[in-house]
Amino acid sequence: MTEPLDRTALLARLAEPRTWDLAIVGGGATGLGVALDAAARGFSVVLLEAHDFAKGTSSRATKLVHGGVRYLAQGNVALVREALHERSVLLANAPHLAQRLPFVVPAYRLWDQPFYGIGLKLYDALAGARGLGATEWLSAARTAELLPGVMRSGLNGGVRYWDGQFDDARLAVLLARTAAARGALLLNHVPVTALKRDAGKVTGLSARDAETGRVFHVAARCVINATGVWVDAVRDMDRDPGTPARAPMVAPSQGVHLVVDRRFLPGTHALMVPKTSDGRVLFAVPWLGKTVLGTTDTPRDDLQIEPRPLPAEVDFILGEAARYLERAPTRADVRSVWVGLRPLVKPSGDDGENTKSLSREHTVLVGRSGLVTVTGGKWTTYRAMAEDVLERAMERGVLPRRAGGATVRLPLLGAAAGRPLAEPPGEHGYGSEAEVVRRLPGAANWLWRDAESGRGGLSEAMVRFAVRHEMARTVEDVLARRCRLLFLDAAEAARQAMPVAALLSEELGRAVPTAEFVELAKAYGTAP
Ligand SMILES: Cc1cc2nc3c(=O)[nH]c(=O)nc-3n(C[C@H](O)[C@H](O)[C@H](O)COP(=O)(O)OP(=O)(O)OC[C@H]3O[C@@H](n4cnc5c(N)ncnc54)[C@H](O)[C@@H]3O)c2cc1C
Repeated sequence: MTEPLDRTALLARLAEPRTWDLAIVGGGATGLGVALDAAARGFSVVLLEAHDFAKGTSSRATKLVHGGVRYLAQGNVALVREALHERSVLLANAPHLAQRLPFVVPAYRLWDQPFYGIGLKLYDALAGARGLGATEWLSAARTAELLPGVMRSGLNGGVRYWDGQFDDARLAVLLARTAAARGALLLNHVPVTALKRDAGKVTGLSARDAETGRVFHVAARCVINATGVWVDAVRDMDRDPGTPARAPMVAPSQGVHLVVDRRFLPGTHALMVPKTSDGRVLFAVPWLGKTVLGTTDTPRDDLQIEPRPLPAEVDFILGEAARYLERAPTRADVRSVWVGLRPLVKPSGDDGENTKSLSREHTVLVGRSGLVTVTGGKWTTYRAMAEDVLERAMERGVLPRRAGGATVRLPLLGAAAGRPLAEPPGEHGYGSEAEVVRRLPGAANWLWRDAESGRGGLSEAMVRFAVRHEMARTVEDVLARRCRLLFLDAAEAARQAMPVAALLSEELGRAVPTAEFVELAKAYGTAP
């Protein structure tokens, strides 16, 4: 059901005097997953996002739908098994935005091939019937054939295995729209500014429409804090005046990705380096017509909405790429750099709250006030995390009991087999909704076409669809998260700011600024 979503009507619903079953703070993978699951179980749901859906960590992933080979190396079999299950659920429910992808591990030392091959066979075994393809040992010639561009000198062979990839920000918007189609009320650009408390219990929240400054008061039986690395700021809103601040739950660490042209790694396979010079995993992944290289893991003590890379992180990624690619990209070849913050959860504090790690990856905490905080985890497991959150809220009596499993077979809007995500973005990314896009004005008017491939691009109709159906409000909403141009080619995204703003103005009936976005694109386009 491709219904337009009109902001004035959505804000009018937010102003209605009523008590919602759930009010969710944060519109990343975690909050959106909870919104969809709760709406699918018949709960009334409101979700408020301070910026745009997936503006935080959820647009800055490596874009892998994966069981996590590295967790297998750590012996965390339960975690891998759960993620492999979720991988198959996501690929089935959103085949236009999440697909299987072959990976090759090139082997340069004699023992690399048997070592990684056996590990990856175990990965297959854990996936069982949900496996996406069998792991194979490859000769050196076959490795070079599947990974054109791989460093041939010293290549002994390789191992091919299968995992998944996706478009994170578009998936987030799709989760929001699918939840809205099930009756949930979701709004972007509405930061939550305070929690409402009565007799020590959280009973709702206050929020402000960033566009008009209008303040809203929302009553809810259960408030979920799904603000990723920012959960401690919301937990701090749940504090008696005069009492000391709680120990923070989250220690952020940042991950940098560099995007370069496909010519550095042409072909359809991703390259996986299981052990970099500093002992971590590195990927080179074909994605939307480009190659994504990443990532890093650097502790941070600030929580900016737009974190920037350190020169040493860029050096590290380029240095590793030079070890594995025949033609090593340089700083001048970098089309875009983006940085995501990982919420690493600290061990339980001693403030009397009950912290329960449902897995090593994500943590759900129900405060004495009834505030439910969830953080950590990964995109791949957002659906299982949502089930955990609702289970915990029901367990603690914050929500009435309703059976789970509602989202296991719940196709997202437009679900239809699509072209490979390795290809440049275009109408095919809309699945069965491509028809709706094509019927909008300007379907044949291309603002941008992918120069390297001559295919895909951004049409005027896609911008109109972003405003009418996907809740885009700003140039950045369109060029960063509805179409991923900022993440693919920041200089090109800056060039598109004016034409996109003109279309937004036409659709929204007001002037739309570009200066802030152009500055942002400049930052994304500069590898320090
Ligand atoms: C570098 C990197 C690579 C990754 N790669 C992968 C991968 O390949 N595969 C995978 O499965 N996982 C990956 N992950 C993990 C995955 O991206 C995260 O687990 C997931 O995106 C976290 O989502 P979230 O909703 O919890 O947080 P976020 O996406 O950060 O969402 C929190 C939201 O809360 C909003 N917010 C904050 N304060 C307020 C407020 N007061 N009012 C309203 N809203 C507020 C923020 O604006 C933000 O949008 C990666 C993570 C990183 C850092």
